[in-house]
Amino acid sequence: MAIEANTKKTGRVQPPSMVQKQLWAKAAGRCEFRGCNKILYSDNLTQLRDNLSIISHIIAYEKDGPRGDAILSEKLKTDISNLMLTCKDHGKIIDSYEYIAAYPVELLREYKKEHEDRIKILTGVLENFKTHILLFLIPIGERTFNIDQSQIFQAIQPKYPSSENPYSIDLSEVCYAETKEGWSFLCQTINQKFKDIFKTGANRRDFNHISVFALAPIPLLVFLGSLIGDIDHVDLYHKHRSTDKWTWKDTSEDDGEDYYQITGPEKHNTSSKTALAISVSGEIDKTNIRGILGADCNLYEIKAAKPGLDFLSSKAKLLAFSSAYRELLNDIRCVNGHYNEIHLFSAAPPPVAIESGRTVLPKCDPPIKVYDFIGKDGGFIYALTINEHSKG
Ligand SMILES: [Zn+2]
Repeated sequence: MAIEANTKKTGRVQPPSMVQKQLWAKAAGRCEFRGCNKILYSDNLTQLRDNLSIISHIIAYEKDGPRGDAILSEKLKTDISNLMLTCKDHGKIIDSYEYIAAYPVELLREYKKEHEDRIKILTGVLENFKTHILLFLIPIGERTFNIDQSQIFQAIQPKYPSSENPYSIDLSEVCYAETKEGWSFLCQTINQKFKDIFKTGANRRDFNHISVFALAPIPLLVFLGSLIGDIDHVDLYHKHRSTDKWTWKDTSEDDGEDYYQITGPEKHNTSSKTALAISVSGEIDKTNIRGILGADCNLYEIKAAKPGLDFLSSKAKLLAFSSAYRELLNDIRCVNGHYNEIHLFSAAPPPVAIESGRTVLPKCDPPIKVYDFIGKDGGFIYALTINEHSKG
C-alpha cells in the first residue's frame, strides 16, 4: 500500500519527516523495487528536479490493505523497516490488490534489504578514504612551527579528514632544556597527550588510518614513531623545499634508481658498541660517532643515493627506506642480539625519523638509544631511548 511522499491525503498515513529522510538516505534516492533503481529526485528525460517517489508499505497501514495484518498494520505503519521508497509505477504495483500473491511480504522485504545493503556497501567504500590527521609540533631550540591547514587537506587527497580540526600534539609553548631531564619530561608529556588522543581499547581501533604532519627534533620524531608502531596505516608527510608544499611528488621521475646504500663493519665485534647512522638529509660524520662510542664500534649506515634536503621527494623513497631499514635491523639483531643497544644517529627528514621509530619491533629488536645533533661543533649528544626492555 503506497502513499505519495510529498502529498498529504486524508486517511493516508504520512511517516514522520525524519523517517522519510532516513528512508531517502537508505535508498540513496532510488526505487527499491528489484531491478528498477530509478532516480527519484529528478526526471531522467527533462532533468527537472522533483520528488518522483512514493513511500510504499510492505504491510499495509490498514488491516484491510494489501498484505494488511490485524496487529502489524497499526504497529508498523510508520516503521522504516516496513517502508519502501519506490517510483510511482512500482508503488502502484505494490499497492495493488491484484498483485498481492506475486509480491508477498517476504519478497518485498528482500527487495528492500538487497537495495539498501548494496547502497551501504557502495557508499561505504569512502570509509577507506577517511584519515585522522595528527599534527606533531615541538620547537627546535627557539624555533616554533605551525602548518597551514589548507596545505594539509591538499596533501592528503584523495583522502579526507575525519574531522575539521586535526588532532594535535603541540608543545610550542613548552620550554625545555636539551638535557636528559628535558628529553624525559618531553617524552612523558607527549606520551600523555598521545594517550588522550589515541585512547586505549575500543576507541583505538577507530584509528586505523592516520596522516602525520610533524616538525620536531629528531629524537622526538623517533619517539613518536615508536608510539604509532601499532597503527596499521600511517601516511607521513613533510614540507618539500622545492615546492614549499606538503604534497608528495610523483614517483615517475626517479623510478628504477637504487635509493639507499647499506654498509656495515667487516666483522661485527660483540664486545663493542653498535651504531646505526642514517644519512638521508645530510651525511653523518663518522668520526663523531667513533669519538662517542669508541674507535672499535660496529658502525652500520643506511645512506641515501644523494643525501640532501631535497632527497625525500616521493613516497616510494620513504617506502624503500622502511624496507631497507627493517632489513638492516634484522641483520644487526642476528649478530648483536636482542639486548645490546643500538645507538642511532640520524640526519633525516621527519618521515624518515618517524619511520625509524615506527619500524622497530617492540621487545624483539634491541633498545635504541637516540642521539640529537646539536651543531657542527658540538656534534651528537644522547637524548632518549626507545624500546627499552630488560634481559629475561
Ligand atoms: Zn521503480
